[in-house]
Amino acid sequence: MHPLLGDDLARLPELLDETRAYAVRLLAGMDDRPVARTPVRRPPSPLPLVGSGAKGAMEAFAERWEPGFAASAGPRYLGFVTGGATPASLAGDWLTGVLDQNPTSGIDSTAPDLEREAVAWLRELFGLPPEHEGTFVSGATMSNAAGLAIGREWLGERRGIPVAEQGAAALGPVAVLSGSPHSSVGKALSVLGLGRSAMRRVDLLPGREAVDPARLAAALEELGGRPAIVVANAGTVNTVDFDDLRAIIALRERYPFWLHVDAAFGAFAALSPGHAHLVDGLGEADSVCVDLHKWLNVPYSSAVQFTRRRDLQARVFANSAAAYLGPVGDDPVHLTPENSRRLHAVPAWFALAAYGREGHAEIVRRDVALAGLLGERIAALPAYRLLAPVRLNVVCFTLADAPERAGELVNAIIESGEAFLTPTVHDGVPALRAAFSNWRTTEADVERVADLLKRLAP
Ligand SMILES: *Cc1c(COP(=O)(O)O)cnc(C)c1O
Repeated sequence: MHPLLGDDLARLPELLDETRAYAVRLLAGMDDRPVARTPVRRPPSPLPLVGSGAKGAMEAFAERWEPGFAASAGPRYLGFVTGGATPASLAGDWLTGVLDQNPTSGIDSTAPDLEREAVAWLRELFGLPPEHEGTFVSGATMSNAAGLAIGREWLGERRGIPVAEQGAAALGPVAVLSGSPHSSVGKALSVLGLGRSAMRRVDLLPGREAVDPARLAAALEELGGRPAIVVANAGTVNTVDFDDLRAIIALRERYPFWLHVDAAFGAFAALSPGHAHLVDGLGEADSVCVDLHKWLNVPYSSAVQFTRRRDLQARVFANSAAAYLGPVGDDPVHLTPENSRRLHAVPAWFALAAYGREGHAEIVRRDVALAGLLGERIAALPAYRLLAPVRLNVVCFTLADAPERAGELVNAIIESGEAFLTPTVHDGVPALRAAFSNWRTTEADVERVADLLKRLAP
């Protein structure tokens, strides 16, 4: 064994104590750390010939890299849709690395069963029926891609074409219909060989980001009975609008389509009694995407993908030519794009075991209330204008008299170190979004952000 490895092995308990102490300092300082930073590029340093051991690596990291990192785990990082990591999920994440299990196949451990238990808990959390089976993937982008891949296989099934064998080209042009699809859907279509141009944007309801069901019906009618994929959106990123899932489901009586629902963070509406109606019908979708590193507040990377057609899923993802991995069954290796991977389920399992439905519902209810409060504060500031009602956990707004300066305002917010919001364009208007999905955010944080906005545009 290399002497540096041998030394680290001998000092492992102390090393882990030192790492723990460093982690505690970082977490204790999360509130004071500048929330975001304008990145300063560093020249890359050369690969060390002789390393410096774990302690030396930690010191180099603390000096060279950590100071430039954002407080994205903290309470006023309101950019994108970004959760933090609850204590239990963090503990689970550490132990995932400690045990370093590969859940690929179930011939050597119970790790895949832990995943199955976590999936069953999540299914119940979101109110999905038992027909929905699920698997862990690394994020909502992969979850959307997996759901659409299963949908692609379904299109083939309808037409007697085994797509997994013959390739997407055998299907010919495919129509994917959606109102306000997330950008990751285009990426998935590119990867899946359906092509970004397969996406047909369907008109939205007036003043909304939700699809107009009548226009969707018209678009399906135009296909003349050809099966299609419909991507319904349960929580758009700008204004958290929800497609009317019941109205879309009703269209299945007249038109053949695979219904994929991107509920990356919108699925959590099911945990708030006042908002659960927004995801009514979710369980009737053919595939559903839910991110976990957002509103479940587990560390990156974690999402779940649900489908009613595990048989088609296994056709797409079967790792069938490897005798040493055993027969194609429902082990994760045959269900997701990856073969070997991290046991993603452990942090989510810890979170649900630690806080249960009630604990996670509290996070959702609080974040929704805080988004509403910031919306009220902003509405009361003459310099600003809300661009949409606060439907769930995102406030979308702009400068009342100078929307074109929204980008400058984002930069000023970053410079302040007090908060982070992301720029967007909503209905052609440059705007900002404040998204609430962190478990640590409180009313005091909202007041601080409101004060900051007031100072920056008096
Ligand atoms: C975040 C998000 C995605 C992509 O999720 P990643 O975790 O970044 O892969 C997809 N759809 C919606 C609606 C999202 O909010």
